[in-house]
Amino acid sequence: MRPTFARIHLENLKYNLEYIRSKINKNSKMCVAVKADAYGHGAVECAKTAVECGADFLAVATVDEGIELRLAGIKVGILVLSLCQKEEMEEVVKNELTPLVFDEEYIGFVAEAAKKYKKNGFSVHLAVDTGMGRIGCLAKDAGMVAKKIAETGVLKMGGICTHFSVADSTQAENFEYTEKQFKLFLEAVENVKKEGIDPGIRHCSNSALTLTHPEMHLDMCRPGIIAYGYYPGQVDKKYFEKLGEKTFLKPVMELVTKVVAIREFEKDRSVSYGRRWTSSKKTKIGVLPIGYADGLFRRFNEDDKRLYVAVDGKNYPVCGRICMDQCMIELGEDSNVERYCEAVIFGPEESGALQSAQEIADMTGTISYEITCGVSKRVPRIFVTSATR
Ligand SMILES: *Cc1c(COP(=O)(O)O)cnc(C)c1O
Repeated sequence: MRPTFARIHLENLKYNLEYIRSKINKNSKMCVAVKADAYGHGAVECAKTAVECGADFLAVATVDEGIELRLAGIKVGILVLSLCQKEEMEEVVKNELTPLVFDEEYIGFVAEAAKKYKKNGFSVHLAVDTGMGRIGCLAKDAGMVAKKIAETGVLKMGGICTHFSVADSTQAENFEYTEKQFKLFLEAVENVKKEGIDPGIRHCSNSALTLTHPEMHLDMCRPGIIAYGYYPGQVDKKYFEKLGEKTFLKPVMELVTKVVAIREFEKDRSVSYGRRWTSSKKTKIGVLPIGYADGLFRRFNEDDKRLYVAVDGKNYPVCGRICMDQCMIELGEDSNVERYCEAVIFGPEESGALQSAQEIADMTGTISYEITCGVSKRVPRIFVTSATR
């Protein structure tokens, strides 16, 4: 096996999910987002853990992601959050995936496939665009679209949903926008009811609102990032500390590699492409078999930014450019780091990691989501529980 892998701490995932479940109103369902291979953590294992922890639904982005879960024996409802192709509708129906619909043409595609496979009462959820500007019908059209669903004779409106664009911001004007979106969503629900149609499961809360706004939980919450141990945007640990609330989230992914070689360098030797780093004195350089093709992006270590890697509880700076498959760290002349030692890029604190994906995200102007999703397919995911460690 490659010395570079992602250790997935399922005990931490379980811990986060149990915490999330305890935060969700008792009568509301939990839909855990496992799209994009569970934000890079491995969809099947994470989905199984989510179901164990009481997930009523799972959310994926693509039909293929949904099929992967069905093949693994997952039985709970699976929402497909992004639009499916007409050609994929038969797979959607055969695999009992739940698509989001919002226009007549698309409803027609689902209905046609449902008829072909005699799936009477096949469930779809109506997406309402209350201000995200992505997919969904307008709130004022929700009743009309709900009627189109009913008129197919084969589809049932299993739910209605919307998505917020600034729920992870703590600024007052953004919260007003969220409240406006929420109001529009409730209007959409009313418009459906006015047509004499049961809107089904009403759901809108992502991670941020799951933690901060119980009045917006309605019939189901759709948390994602908090399951993997990271806070959404400004709704972070500090924000809760200010409110005097304790939140407990534990990062799930630990990105690990090994010091596969230790090189002794004299003064004035350069390292990596572009010769951006030159030794200023005698030192030792550790070689790590991880690079941008693994998701350790070049922008993590540019001239004005230093990426640090932890070995035995000590941080060492990456020196020079990150290559496709390798990078180098400066260990210093007196280092007693040994060859084949484990080196940790990021991970939960208790693993000995000195940073999480959040710190790398902050340093590089992005969000933790992009860091864990960026860990590429080439990096094997090794699932551990407290028992196996
Ligand atoms: C990704 C996604 C979520 C989960 O978002 P988090 O910020 O990770 O909680 C919820 N709903 C929709 C529609 C999404 O696309």
